[in-house]
Amino acid sequence: MSLIENRAAVGPLHHHISLRAEEKILPSVNEMVKTLRPEEPLHCVRPNVISSTAHAFSTAFNGDVLYAVKCNPEPAVLRAVWAGGVRHFDCASISEVQLVRRLFPGADIHFMHPVKARSAIREAWEQHGVRDLVLDSESELSKIMQELGQHTSKSGLFIRLALPETGAAINLSKKFGAEPEAAIALLRAARPLAGKLGLAFHVGSQCMDPLAWRDAMQLAGEVIRASGVRVDVLDIGGGFPVAYPDMDPPPLGAFMAEIDAAYDALDMPWLKLWAEPGRALVGGGASVVVQVQLRRGNMLYISDGVYGALADAGALRFRFPTRLLRARRSQGAQDAPFGFFGPSCDSLDVMNGPFLLPDDVEEGDWIEIGQLGAYGTCLRTAFNGFDRAALVEVSDRAMLETAGYELPDGDAPRG
Ligand SMILES: *Cc1c(COP(=O)(O)O)cnc(C)c1O
Repeated sequence: MSLIENRAAVGPLHHHISLRAEEKILPSVNEMVKTLRPEEPLHCVRPNVISSTAHAFSTAFNGDVLYAVKCNPEPAVLRAVWAGGVRHFDCASISEVQLVRRLFPGADIHFMHPVKARSAIREAWEQHGVRDLVLDSESELSKIMQELGQHTSKSGLFIRLALPETGAAINLSKKFGAEPEAAIALLRAARPLAGKLGLAFHVGSQCMDPLAWRDAMQLAGEVIRASGVRVDVLDIGGGFPVAYPDMDPPPLGAFMAEIDAAYDALDMPWLKLWAEPGRALVGGGASVVVQVQLRRGNMLYISDGVYGALADAGALRFRFPTRLLRARRSQGAQDAPFGFFGPSCDSLDVMNGPFLLPDDVEEGDWIEIGQLGAYGTCLRTAFNGFDRAALVEVSDRAMLETAGYELPDGDAPRG
C-alpha cells in the first residue's frame, strides 16, 4: 500500500505495492484500519471477489466477455478481472488502451467509444494491435477510414444503436447511438469496408430489468434484417446491475435466460454474442474506509465525498452499505439514519443517503462504505486538495452479495 500525493497528476493509484497473486496473504479491512488508523480515504480492493465474479459472469454468458475498463481501471482490479478468466477489454480512451496493453500483452483490446481522436485511432491500431472500433455516425466512419488507409479490411467495425428509454439508473443512449434508420444505413456502408461487422448497444447502467436485453436484442434483430447485410457480432453492452441497500436485482441467471431466449428468437446462428459488463464484475469488489471528522446532529463530516469515491452518492443519490469501525465496543446503540458531508468546501459535496449507522457514531470513528468497486474508487479528483488516498488489497467478501455471483468455497479461481 502507498499514499499517493497529487493523484490527478499520476493517474490511477497504480503505485501501490502488489505482490504476485500466489504470494498474497491478504489482510482484512479491520486489520488494515487497526494498523493504519487512516485519516485519508482507504480504498480496500477485494481481488478474490472480483476474480470469482468475473469467472461467474463469463461462465454464465454464452459469448465473449469484454470488461469495461472505465468502470475501474485500477491495475489491482484489472489483474483480478484477468485472474477470473476475462481476456477482452472494452477501452474508451488511448490511456486505457495503453494501460491494458502494458499489463496484459496478450489481451484483446476493443475501442468502444463512438467518438475518438484521430491520433487515438492511429496509435491504438498501429502500436497496440486494436482492430475493433465502434461508431455511430457517417463522420466517424470516414474518420476511421481515413486513419486506417488501405487496412480497413482487417478491421472490425461496430455500429452503436440507440435504444428507447429503459429502466436503467443511468441512460446511455442520450449521448451515443444511431437511431434504427441511421444504423441500417451505417451497417450497409460499413459492410464492404470491414473484415468483421458488429452491432452494439447499451441498455443503460444498473439496469434492473432482464427484459431490457430481450427488447434491445429484438430491435437489433430488426435492424440487422432490414439492413440486408451479414452482421457477425451482436454486442449487448454492459448495464448488468449489482445489489445496493435499496436495490435488489434479479439473479444473474434471469438476465442470461432472457438473453439466451432472445438470441434463439433471432434465428441467426452465425451471430456471435459479446457483452461489456463493468459494474457487474467489480461493483462488489472494493470499499472505501472514511473517518468521521465531526458530527453535527445526524450529519457526519467525513474524509471522502462526491469529488472523491462517492460521486454517485451525491447527485444520483445512490445508497451504499455502511459499517462502523471503532476501537471501543458500541454499548448496544440502535441504528439510525445519517447523511454525510464530504471534505471539500463545496456545498454540493453532500450525500443524503440515508446511511444506517449506530446512533452513537462520533468523531474519530471509521466507516466502511461498500459496493464502490464500480464508478467509485476511480472517480477521485484533485478538487480542493483532497486527492490523497491509499489502496490496499484485502481478503473480505463483498459488503453486499449479488444473487448469481455467490463466491465458491475456498479460493477464487486464479488464471
Ligand atoms: C460504461 C460502458 C460500459 C459498462 O457499463 P456498466 O453499466 O458498468 O456495465 C460498457 N460499454 C460501454 C460502451 C460503456 O460506455
